[in-house]
Amino acid sequence: MTPVFNFSAGPAVLPREVLLEVQNELLDWHGSGMSVMEMSHRGKEFMQIAAEAEEDLRAVMGIPSNYKVLFLQGGATTQFAMVPMNLLRGRSVVDFVDTGHWSKLAMKELRKFGATPHIVASGEANGYRDIPAEEGWQRNPDAAYLHYTSNETIGGVEFQSTPKTGDVPLVCDMSSNFLSRPVDVSQFGLIYGGAQKNIGPAGLTIVIVREDLLGQAIAGTPTMFDYRIQAEGDSMYNTPPTFAIYVAGLVFKWMQRQGGLKAIEQRNIEKAALLYETIDTSAGFYRCPVDKPYRSRMNVPFMLADASLDEAFIKEAKARNLLQLKGHRALGGMRASIYNAMPLEGVRALTGFMQDFARHNG
Ligand code: PMP
Repeated sequence: MTPVFNFSAGPAVLPREVLLEVQNELLDWHGSGMSVMEMSHRGKEFMQIAAEAEEDLRAVMGIPSNYKVLFLQGGATTQFAMVPMNLLRGRSVVDFVDTGHWSKLAMKELRKFGATPHIVASGEANGYRDIPAEEGWQRNPDAAYLHYTSNETIGGVEFQSTPKTGDVPLVCDMSSNFLSRPVDVSQFGLIYGGAQKNIGPAGLTIVIVREDLLGQAIAGTPTMFDYRIQAEGDSMYNTPPTFAIYVAGLVFKWMQRQGGLKAIEQRNIEKAALLYETIDTSAGFYRCPVDKPYRSRMNVPFMLADASLDEAFIKEAKARNLLQLKGHRALGGMRASIYNAMPLEGVRALTGFMQDFARHNG
Protein backbone atom coordinates (compact mmCIF):
# COMPACT_ATOMS: atom_id res chain seq x y z
CA MET A 1 0.00 0.00 0.00
CA THR A 2 1.34 3.44 -0.94
CA PRO A 3 1.55 5.76 2.06
CA VAL A 4 -0.48 8.90 1.43
CA PHE A 5 -0.98 12.13 3.33
CA ASN A 6 -4.66 12.93 3.72
CA PHE A 7 -5.48 16.62 4.27
CA SER A 8 -9.25 16.14 4.51
CA ALA A 9 -11.21 18.48 6.81
CA GLY A 10 -13.21 15.56 8.19
CA PRO A 11 -13.67 12.69 8.41
CA ALA A 12 -9.94 13.02 8.58
CA VAL A 13 -6.63 11.29 9.08
CA LEU A 14 -6.36 9.09 12.19
CA PRO A 15 -3.13 7.99 13.88
CA ARG A 16 -1.73 5.05 11.92
CA GLU A 17 -0.77 3.38 15.19
CA VAL A 18 -4.42 3.44 16.27
CA LEU A 19 -5.66 2.06 12.95
CA LEU A 20 -3.19 -0.83 13.30
CA GLU A 21 -4.45 -1.53 16.83
CA VAL A 22 -8.02 -1.56 15.51
CA GLN A 23 -6.96 -3.93 12.75
CA ASN A 24 -5.27 -6.25 15.24
CA GLU A 25 -8.25 -6.36 17.54
CA LEU A 26 -10.93 -6.26 14.87
CA LEU A 27 -11.97 -9.91 14.98
CA ASP A 28 -11.16 -10.67 18.60
CA TRP A 29 -11.12 -7.92 21.19
CA HIS A 30 -8.84 -8.90 24.09
CA GLY A 31 -9.62 -12.62 23.86
CA SER A 32 -13.38 -12.07 23.95
CA GLY A 33 -13.77 -13.84 20.61
CA MET A 34 -15.88 -10.89 19.44
CA SER A 35 -15.34 -7.74 17.48
CA VAL A 36 -16.24 -4.58 19.41
CA MET A 37 -18.86 -4.06 16.68
CA GLU A 38 -20.60 -7.25 17.75
CA MET A 39 -20.73 -6.61 21.49
CA SER A 40 -23.74 -5.68 23.53
CA HIS A 41 -23.37 -2.11 24.73
CA ARG A 42 -24.48 -3.31 28.16
CA GLY A 43 -22.07 -6.24 28.35
CA LYS A 44 -19.08 -6.03 30.67
CA GLU A 45 -16.57 -5.78 27.80
CA PHE A 46 -18.10 -2.72 26.19
CA MET A 47 -18.96 -1.11 29.54
CA GLN A 48 -15.24 -1.29 30.32
CA ILE A 49 -14.32 0.22 26.92
CA ALA A 50 -16.72 3.14 27.40
CA ALA A 51 -15.71 3.79 31.00
CA GLU A 52 -12.03 3.81 30.05
CA ALA A 53 -12.66 6.12 27.09
CA GLU A 54 -14.34 8.61 29.41
CA GLU A 55 -11.63 8.27 32.05
CA ASP A 56 -8.89 8.83 29.47
CA LEU A 57 -10.65 11.84 27.94
CA ARG A 58 -11.04 13.33 31.43
CA ALA A 59 -7.33 12.78 32.07
CA VAL A 60 -6.19 14.21 28.70
CA MET A 61 -8.35 17.32 28.98
CA GLY A 62 -8.31 17.75 32.75
CA ILE A 63 -12.11 17.74 32.98
CA PRO A 64 -13.28 18.74 36.49
CA SER A 65 -15.56 16.34 38.39
CA ASN A 66 -18.56 18.70 38.22
CA TYR A 67 -18.73 18.21 34.44
CA LYS A 68 -20.49 15.35 32.66
CA VAL A 69 -19.00 13.79 29.56
CA LEU A 70 -21.61 12.60 27.07
CA PHE A 71 -20.99 10.32 24.09
CA LEU A 72 -23.85 11.16 21.73
CA GLN A 73 -24.76 10.97 18.04
CA GLY A 74 -26.09 13.36 15.43
CA GLY A 75 -22.96 15.44 14.93
CA ALA A 76 -22.28 19.00 15.97
CA THR A 77 -25.26 19.99 13.82
CA THR A 78 -27.61 18.27 16.26
CA GLN A 79 -25.94 20.23 19.06
CA PHE A 80 -26.92 23.46 17.28
CA ALA A 81 -30.46 22.47 18.40
CA MET A 82 -29.76 20.55 21.61
CA VAL A 83 -27.85 23.43 23.18
CA PRO A 84 -30.80 25.87 23.00
CA MET A 85 -33.29 23.15 24.01
CA ASN A 86 -31.35 22.55 27.19
CA LEU A 87 -29.65 25.84 27.96
CA LEU A 88 -32.16 28.57 27.13
CA ARG A 89 -33.63 28.08 30.63
CA GLY A 90 -36.52 30.46 30.03
CA ARG A 91 -34.41 33.15 28.37
CA SER A 92 -34.86 34.39 24.84
CA VAL A 93 -31.49 35.87 23.85
CA VAL A 94 -28.15 34.19 23.22
CA ASP A 95 -24.89 36.06 22.68
CA PHE A 96 -23.07 34.91 19.55
CA VAL A 97 -19.68 35.60 18.09
CA ASP A 98 -20.07 35.47 14.33
CA THR A 99 -16.88 34.07 12.84
CA GLY A 100 -18.34 32.63 9.65
CA HIS A 101 -20.04 29.56 8.23
CA TRP A 102 -20.46 27.36 11.32
CA SER A 103 -21.38 30.09 13.79
CA LYS A 104 -24.01 31.28 11.31
CA LEU A 105 -25.54 27.80 11.10
CA ALA A 106 -25.67 27.55 14.90
CA MET A 107 -27.52 30.91 14.98
CA LYS A 108 -29.97 29.75 12.33
CA GLU A 109 -30.93 26.73 14.42
CA LEU A 110 -31.34 28.82 17.58
CA ARG A 111 -34.03 30.91 15.88
CA LYS A 112 -36.22 27.80 15.58
CA PHE A 113 -36.72 27.93 19.33
CA GLY A 114 -38.13 31.44 19.23
CA ALA A 115 -34.90 32.84 20.63
CA THR A 116 -32.78 35.59 19.11
CA PRO A 117 -29.08 35.44 18.48
CA HIS A 118 -27.50 38.65 19.66
CA ILE A 119 -24.29 39.15 17.70
CA VAL A 120 -21.68 40.52 20.11
CA ALA A 121 -19.09 40.76 17.36
CA SER A 122 -18.80 39.75 13.72
CA GLY A 123 -15.94 39.25 11.33
CA GLU A 124 -18.30 39.60 8.37
CA ALA A 125 -17.48 43.22 7.46
CA ASN A 126 -13.83 42.17 7.11
CA GLY A 127 -14.65 39.10 5.04
CA TYR A 128 -13.98 36.90 8.12
CA ARG A 129 -10.27 37.66 7.95
CA ASP A 130 -10.13 38.24 11.68
CA ILE A 131 -12.01 38.01 14.99
CA PRO A 132 -13.01 41.35 16.56
CA ALA A 133 -11.14 42.02 19.85
CA GLU A 134 -13.03 40.92 22.95
CA GLU A 135 -12.82 44.38 24.56
CA GLY A 136 -15.22 45.73 21.95
CA TRP A 137 -17.86 42.99 22.19
CA GLN A 138 -21.38 44.30 22.79
CA ARG A 139 -22.75 41.76 25.26
CA ASN A 140 -26.33 41.31 26.41
CA PRO A 141 -26.43 40.85 30.19
CA ASP A 142 -29.62 38.76 29.90
CA ALA A 143 -28.13 36.27 27.46
CA ALA A 144 -28.80 32.62 28.31
CA TYR A 145 -25.21 31.88 27.27
CA LEU A 146 -22.52 33.05 24.88
CA HIS A 147 -21.82 30.77 21.92
CA TYR A 148 -18.65 30.78 19.86
CA THR A 149 -16.92 28.54 17.33
CA SER A 150 -13.34 28.09 18.50
CA ASN A 151 -12.16 27.15 15.01
CA GLU A 152 -13.97 27.89 11.75
CA THR A 153 -13.17 24.81 9.68
CA ILE A 154 -13.96 26.43 6.34
CA GLY A 155 -12.71 29.97 6.87
CA GLY A 156 -9.59 28.90 8.79
CA VAL A 157 -10.10 31.40 11.63
CA GLU A 158 -9.22 30.24 15.15
CA PHE A 159 -9.51 31.79 18.62
CA GLN A 160 -6.11 31.85 20.30
CA SER A 161 -7.59 32.21 23.78
CA THR A 162 -10.84 31.48 25.59
CA PRO A 163 -13.30 34.38 25.87
CA LYS A 164 -14.29 35.53 29.36
CA THR A 165 -18.02 35.61 30.10
CA GLY A 166 -18.31 35.99 33.87
CA ASP A 167 -21.59 34.49 35.06
CA VAL A 168 -22.96 33.95 31.56
CA PRO A 169 -22.24 30.31 30.60
CA LEU A 170 -19.72 29.96 27.80
CA VAL A 171 -20.68 27.47 25.07
CA CYS A 172 -18.19 26.37 22.45
CA ASP A 173 -18.45 24.46 19.20
CA MET A 174 -14.99 22.92 19.40
CA SER A 175 -15.51 20.46 16.53
CA SER A 176 -12.40 21.24 14.55
CA ASN A 177 -9.83 22.08 17.23
CA PHE A 178 -10.99 19.73 19.99
CA LEU A 179 -7.93 18.29 21.78
CA SER A 180 -5.47 20.21 19.61
CA ARG A 181 -4.28 22.39 22.52
CA PRO A 182 -4.86 22.59 26.28
CA VAL A 183 -8.03 24.39 27.41
CA ASP A 184 -9.26 25.18 30.91
CA VAL A 185 -12.59 23.32 30.92
CA SER A 186 -13.70 25.11 34.09
CA GLN A 187 -14.19 28.29 32.03
CA PHE A 188 -16.94 26.65 29.98
CA GLY A 189 -20.59 25.87 30.57
CA LEU A 190 -20.57 23.44 27.67
CA ILE A 191 -18.20 22.20 24.97
CA TYR A 192 -19.34 20.13 22.00
CA GLY A 193 -17.90 18.68 18.85
CA GLY A 194 -18.14 15.91 16.30
CA ALA A 195 -15.40 13.29 16.62
CA GLN A 196 -14.52 13.00 12.95
CA LYS A 197 -11.59 15.43 12.98
CA ASN A 198 -9.22 15.00 15.91
CA ILE A 199 -10.91 12.18 17.78
CA GLY A 200 -12.14 9.24 15.76
CA PRO A 201 -14.72 8.01 13.26
CA ALA A 202 -17.83 9.98 12.34
CA GLY A 203 -20.93 9.04 14.29
CA LEU A 204 -19.73 10.08 17.74
CA THR A 205 -20.44 13.53 19.16
CA ILE A 206 -18.86 14.56 22.44
CA VAL A 207 -20.51 16.96 24.88
CA ILE A 208 -18.86 18.18 28.08
CA VAL A 209 -21.38 20.01 30.24
CA ARG A 210 -21.31 21.60 33.69
CA GLU A 211 -23.74 19.77 35.98
CA ASP A 212 -25.68 22.80 37.18
CA LEU A 213 -26.87 23.44 33.61
CA LEU A 214 -28.69 20.10 33.43
CA GLY A 215 -32.36 19.46 34.10
CA GLN A 216 -33.92 22.58 32.60
CA ALA A 217 -34.75 21.43 29.08
CA ILE A 218 -37.71 23.14 27.42
CA ALA A 219 -41.06 21.36 27.43
CA GLY A 220 -41.35 18.93 24.55
CA THR A 221 -37.63 18.17 24.37
CA PRO A 222 -37.30 14.65 22.96
CA THR A 223 -35.85 12.18 25.46
CA MET A 224 -32.70 11.63 23.41
CA PHE A 225 -32.04 15.38 23.28
CA ASP A 226 -32.20 15.97 27.02
CA TYR A 227 -28.66 16.21 28.43
CA ARG A 228 -29.89 15.30 31.92
CA ILE A 229 -31.36 12.01 30.72
CA GLN A 230 -28.24 11.24 28.70
CA ALA A 231 -26.07 12.03 31.72
CA GLU A 232 -28.15 9.92 34.10
CA GLY A 233 -28.01 7.03 31.66
CA ASP A 234 -24.22 7.30 31.16
CA SER A 235 -24.90 8.00 27.47
CA MET A 236 -26.58 4.58 27.22
CA TYR A 237 -30.23 5.57 27.24
CA ASN A 238 -30.26 3.89 23.85
CA THR A 239 -27.56 2.07 21.87
CA PRO A 240 -24.55 4.38 21.67
CA PRO A 241 -22.13 4.47 18.70
CA THR A 242 -20.06 1.67 20.22
CA PHE A 243 -17.36 1.25 17.59
CA ALA A 244 -16.72 5.00 17.34
CA ILE A 245 -16.42 5.25 21.15
CA TYR A 246 -13.94 2.37 21.11
CA VAL A 247 -11.74 4.00 18.45
CA ALA A 248 -11.94 7.37 20.22
CA GLY A 249 -10.76 5.62 23.40
CA LEU A 250 -7.71 4.31 21.55
CA VAL A 251 -7.02 7.83 20.24
CA PHE A 252 -7.15 9.22 23.81
CA LYS A 253 -4.56 6.63 24.86
CA TRP A 254 -2.45 7.55 21.81
CA MET A 255 -2.64 11.19 22.89
CA GLN A 256 -1.33 10.28 26.31
CA ARG A 257 1.59 8.41 24.70
CA GLN A 258 2.30 11.53 22.62
CA GLY A 259 2.87 13.45 25.85
CA GLY A 260 -0.62 14.94 26.26
CA LEU A 261 -2.11 18.17 25.00
CA LYS A 262 0.89 20.40 25.65
CA ALA A 263 3.18 18.23 23.55
CA ILE A 264 0.53 17.84 20.85
CA GLU A 265 0.03 21.61 20.78
CA GLN A 266 3.77 22.13 20.24
CA ARG A 267 3.72 19.85 17.22
CA ASN A 268 0.60 21.57 15.87
CA ILE A 269 2.32 24.96 16.21
CA GLU A 270 5.35 23.68 14.35
CA LYS A 271 3.31 22.15 11.51
CA ALA A 272 1.13 25.23 11.04
CA ALA A 273 4.15 27.58 11.14
CA LEU A 274 5.87 25.63 8.37
CA LEU A 275 2.82 25.69 6.12
CA TYR A 276 2.00 29.38 6.65
CA GLU A 277 5.62 30.32 6.12
CA THR A 278 5.63 28.51 2.81
CA ILE A 279 2.52 30.44 1.76
CA ASP A 280 3.85 33.80 2.98
CA THR A 281 7.26 33.44 1.35
CA SER A 282 5.92 32.38 -2.04
CA ALA A 283 6.20 35.90 -3.49
CA GLY A 284 2.44 36.02 -3.95
CA PHE A 285 2.10 32.68 -5.74
CA TYR A 286 0.02 31.46 -2.77
CA ARG A 287 -2.07 33.61 -0.46
CA CYS A 288 -3.87 32.91 2.83
CA PRO A 289 -7.07 34.95 3.23
CA VAL A 290 -6.83 35.12 7.06
CA ASP A 291 -4.88 37.77 9.02
CA LYS A 292 -1.91 36.31 10.89
CA PRO A 293 -3.08 36.46 14.53
CA TYR A 294 -6.31 34.58 13.70
CA ARG A 295 -4.96 31.82 11.49
CA SER A 296 -6.05 28.31 12.32
CA ARG A 297 -3.52 25.66 13.27
CA MET A 298 -5.92 23.00 12.04
CA ASN A 299 -7.39 24.16 8.72
CA VAL A 300 -5.22 26.20 6.41
CA PRO A 301 -7.05 27.75 3.46
CA PHE A 302 -4.90 29.15 0.69
CA MET A 303 -5.41 30.44 -2.84
CA LEU A 304 -3.23 30.34 -5.89
CA ALA A 305 -2.86 33.83 -7.38
CA ASP A 306 -3.70 32.25 -10.75
CA ALA A 307 -6.85 30.19 -10.11
CA SER A 308 -6.56 28.61 -13.55
CA LEU A 309 -3.73 26.53 -12.04
CA ASP A 310 -6.00 25.05 -9.32
CA GLU A 311 -6.81 21.91 -11.24
CA ALA A 312 -3.18 21.20 -12.09
CA PHE A 313 -2.21 21.79 -8.47
CA ILE A 314 -4.73 19.19 -7.22
CA LYS A 315 -3.75 16.71 -9.92
CA GLU A 316 -0.01 16.98 -9.34
CA ALA A 317 -0.46 16.90 -5.56
CA LYS A 318 -2.42 13.69 -5.95
CA ALA A 319 0.36 12.19 -8.04
CA ARG A 320 2.63 12.84 -5.04
CA ASN A 321 0.12 11.13 -2.72
CA LEU A 322 -1.03 14.42 -1.18
CA LEU A 323 -4.79 14.05 -1.02
CA GLN A 324 -7.98 16.06 -0.36
CA LEU A 325 -6.52 19.54 -0.81
CA LYS A 326 -9.40 21.08 -2.71
CA GLY A 327 -10.85 24.02 -0.78
CA HIS A 328 -14.44 24.15 0.46
CA ARG A 329 -16.84 25.13 -2.33
CA ALA A 330 -17.81 28.29 -0.40
CA LEU A 331 -14.24 29.61 -0.53
CA GLY A 332 -12.60 27.92 -3.51
CA GLY A 333 -8.84 27.54 -3.71
CA MET A 334 -7.17 24.99 -1.46
CA ARG A 335 -7.45 23.89 2.13
CA ALA A 336 -4.99 21.72 4.01
CA SER A 337 -6.34 20.31 7.25
CA ILE A 338 -3.49 19.33 9.52
CA TYR A 339 -5.12 17.75 12.56
CA ASN A 340 -3.24 16.03 15.40
CA ALA A 341 -2.73 12.83 13.43
CA MET A 342 -1.04 14.57 10.47
CA PRO A 343 2.68 14.04 10.98
CA LEU A 344 5.20 16.85 10.42
CA GLU A 345 6.54 14.69 7.62
CA GLY A 346 3.18 15.12 5.82
CA VAL A 347 3.35 18.90 6.08
CA ARG A 348 6.96 18.79 4.83
CA ALA A 349 5.85 16.73 1.85
CA LEU A 350 3.13 19.28 1.11
CA THR A 351 5.33 22.37 1.46
CA GLY A 352 8.03 20.73 -0.67
CA PHE A 353 5.47 20.10 -3.37
CA MET A 354 4.07 23.65 -3.10
CA GLN A 355 7.53 25.12 -3.61
CA ASP A 356 8.20 22.87 -6.62
CA PHE A 357 4.83 23.72 -8.12
CA ALA A 358 5.41 27.45 -7.68
CA ARG A 359 8.85 27.15 -9.28
CA HIS A 360 7.50 25.33 -12.33
CA ASN A 361 4.48 27.56 -12.79
CA GLY A 362 5.55 30.95 -11.47
N1 PMP B 1 -19.09 22.92 13.47
C1 PMP B 1 -17.87 22.91 12.91
C2 PMP B 1 -16.86 23.90 13.36
C3 PMP B 1 -17.58 21.98 11.91
O1 PMP B 1 -16.38 21.95 11.34
C4 PMP B 1 -18.58 21.06 11.50
C5 PMP B 1 -18.32 20.01 10.45
N2 PMP B 1 -17.36 20.23 9.55
C6 PMP B 1 -19.82 21.13 12.10
C7 PMP B 1 -20.05 22.06 13.09
C8 PMP B 1 -20.91 20.19 11.71
O2 PMP B 1 -20.58 18.97 12.22
P1 PMP B 1 -21.33 17.61 11.92
O3 PMP B 1 -21.09 17.29 10.51
O4 PMP B 1 -20.67 16.68 12.90
O5 PMP B 1 -22.77 17.82 12.24
